[in-house]
Amino acid sequence: MRLASTPLWRRWSVVRRTSACDVSAAERADAILLHRLAVRGLACRAGGAHVTASGHDGAAGRNGERRGLVLLVEDDDALADVVCELLAPLADVRWTASAEEATARLGEATWDLVLSDVELPGASGLEFARAAKAAQPRAAILILSSHASFDYAVEAIRAGADDYMTKPIDPARLIAKVAELIATTRERRARGRESVLAIGAHPDDVEIGVGGILLRHAAEGHDVAVLTLTGGEEGGTPEQRARESERAAELMSARLFHVALADTSVGEAGATIAAIKRAIDEVLPSTIYTHTARDVHQDHRNVHHATLVAARGIPRVYCYQAPSTTVEFHPTRFVAIDEFVERKLELIEVFVSQVALRDYLEPELLRATARYWGRYARARYVEPLEVIRESDVGTETGASAPAARETADAG
Ligand SMILES: [Zn+2]
Repeated sequence: MRLASTPLWRRWSVVRRTSACDVSAAERADAILLHRLAVRGLACRAGGAHVTASGHDGAAGRNGERRGLVLLVEDDDALADVVCELLAPLADVRWTASAEEATARLGEATWDLVLSDVELPGASGLEFARAAKAAQPRAAILILSSHASFDYAVEAIRAGADDYMTKPIDPARLIAKVAELIATTRERRARGRESVLAIGAHPDDVEIGVGGILLRHAAEGHDVAVLTLTGGEEGGTPEQRARESERAAELMSARLFHVALADTSVGEAGATIAAIKRAIDEVLPSTIYTHTARDVHQDHRNVHHATLVAARGIPRVYCYQAPSTTVEFHPTRFVAIDEFVERKLELIEVFVSQVALRDYLEPELLRATARYWGRYARARYVEPLEVIRESDVGTETGASAPAARETADAG
């Protein structure tokens, strides 16, 4: 047992896995001490190299910043233990020992960093890197490899990993690299953050038209806002309808802007354009959803026209379907809402003042409508959209609106 030539982080691992009789009590105590020193962020001498394993200085864990969330995939439990402790000052580390389990956990949280050994039992670390990139494109991936698996690490970079470190790993370098990559992830998110605004003339218009799409935006971490232009006083008391709107917005994690234009007398200019413009200035959306012009309700048509004026600088503008939409409604974008259709129905149920009065709010009809549009996409339930404008300006990937399924057969 030549512990002195074993790198610091490895020493603890070796000692822990070696039976007591192979390691002297002094060596064991030394290894534990060195490990603890490194973990607690104190400078120490290890094998002649000066190691500063501090999580509290430099780029790592700056004061006041939210702690990172790291998914660690490492089958060596002793090493995983050390890494967890090393990174404790700057991140919450969730550890899993296999690629399969890690793949299953990718959707569990919004990860700031995926830190993975390249050699894993079962599935390959390479496949895992690909899965991680696909599941959370903005999360940085750091690969740990041995010299023997160096080529594999290079492959992992090609598969979408951001960087790799070869073992044995220097604690200070690991901490600095993790801090740097967490910052990279956050920068990507800040740059590519999608903000969407859905505009409706009356309470419940937006939820019926794009409830599933908005839930999907929220699930993808986008900022969602709803602008409702009237109190809906022709269909109930404004107080109750306002409470219902607030509850629905809560369920969509959306900010609600509720304006009191006159129900059934919404104009297409003046106050309507001004109200929409104010919401746009506040939200700075890159995507807007509004009424279609192919609608028998004059409020809906006027909101459509007012939106086109107020939203002339917005890169993506889509029109949704309402129960009063005419047969001329001509959608060309079909957004899958399979995972959100039940929650969309829960949103609609919130509008209790309307559900009893309006046949078009029947769950069966809402579900059947979404099911019908599914025929234009490879999905079971779909919300259809007319496209006014679709530009890729303002996002990192250009794929900011929930990706619509390819149109299979629109004929
Ligand atoms: Zn309406």
